[in-house]
Amino acid sequence: MEAKTKDLWVFIETNEDGTAKNVGIEMLTPGKELAGKQGGALVAVVIGCGADAAVKAASEYGADKVIVVDGPEYKEFTVEAFAKALASLAEKYGPATILLGATPDGRELAPVVACRLKTGLASDCTALGVCDDGSIEWTRPAYGGSIMEVLSCPEQRPQIGSIRPGAFKKGEPGEAKAEIIKEEIAAADVIRTQVLEVIKDMGGENVDLEGADIIVSGGRGVGGPEGFEPIRELAEVLGATVGASRAAVDAGWISHAHQVGQTGKIVGPKLYIACGISGAIQHLAGMTSSDVIIAINKDPDAPIFDVADYGIVGNLFEVLPVLTEEIKKARA
Ligand SMILES: Cc1cc2nc3c(=O)[nH]c(=O)nc-3n(C[C@H](O)[C@H](O)[C@H](O)COP(=O)(O)OP(=O)(O)OC[C@H]3O[C@@H](n4cnc5c(N)ncnc54)[C@H](O)[C@@H]3O)c2cc1C
Repeated sequence: MEAKTKDLWVFIETNEDGTAKNVGIEMLTPGKELAGKQGGALVAVVIGCGADAAVKAASEYGADKVIVVDGPEYKEFTVEAFAKALASLAEKYGPATILLGATPDGRELAPVVACRLKTGLASDCTALGVCDDGSIEWTRPAYGGSIMEVLSCPEQRPQIGSIRPGAFKKGEPGEAKAEIIKEEIAAADVIRTQVLEVIKDMGGENVDLEGADIIVSGGRGVGGPEGFEPIRELAEVLGATVGASRAAVDAGWISHAHQVGQTGKIVGPKLYIACGISGAIQHLAGMTSSDVIIAINKDPDAPIFDVADYGIVGNLFEVLPVLTEEIKKARA
């Protein structure tokens, strides 16, 4: 497909209540910079039903334009309807680039849209840049996270990529100034799946690490499942979420839902406290965008101290109870 513009599109997924999912708002941050470098506009695309809040948020977080497709057939996500809407819009407006979230819905939607538009897809990216020829430079983990792959798509347009939630930080909201463009695309006839029931929790753990402001994480240094107790106690007084390194997860001390890192979740809290975690590159890949990092480790040469803002060299089983007690006192 020919790109008719240099515009960069960000697909904003919506929640049931019409608000925007974090990943869409996060993508507007690199989107603004890349669109600027490429000389195009930053366009948010909202497809949903009653998604006014998402449209407003996209505008407040920097979109120059918001294209909205609103209708009852978009109340629940179906790949048939959403792919029809997004591909039709892309054919009409001809963006140079489209970013989608690498969420369960985004991972289903992105390849179908790419296929309809006869272009490629860089999936599950964690960093973005611009190549010398002006194409987007997509960085993504490959071979189970053992290498980082850098891709570009010099000829085909649009360039499409899905971006991992948490890979970028939300910007600061400002005045909503975007031009709002309403489009009507009927898609009820293409929907082949019918949502009979939505079961929210299948009994698995729902750990919102990506949305957490404070995370207290434990690694192999906690020594066993019971070693997470002082971590949980500190997390409780701080109102924090508990994270973990892969070593602790692989040992079966805590579930995978808590894993931070390249093959876990990418997080960007205001405060990240790493306890008994050495700081392997695959762990750092998931947490170095935290605002403030505190490391507690008994080895003064542990690499985690290279990225920490504050380091405590000591035994976590001595340090954590004191820290928890002092915070309790300060809060009282
Ligand atoms: C393809 C691939 C993907 C991966 N993905 C991930 C990922 O997503 N996330 C991830 O975390 N890892 C990942 N890993 C694993 C990673 O390479 C490391 O093995 C892992 O992060 C190590 O975890 P750790 O720091 O808890 O353990 P270790 O490296 O064993 O470190 C334990 C630390 O605890 C300290 N310690 C021990 N006892 C105490 C104590 N009482 N008090 C204080 N400190 C103490 C030690 O000094 C040491 O620094 C991946 C690896 C591969 C190959």
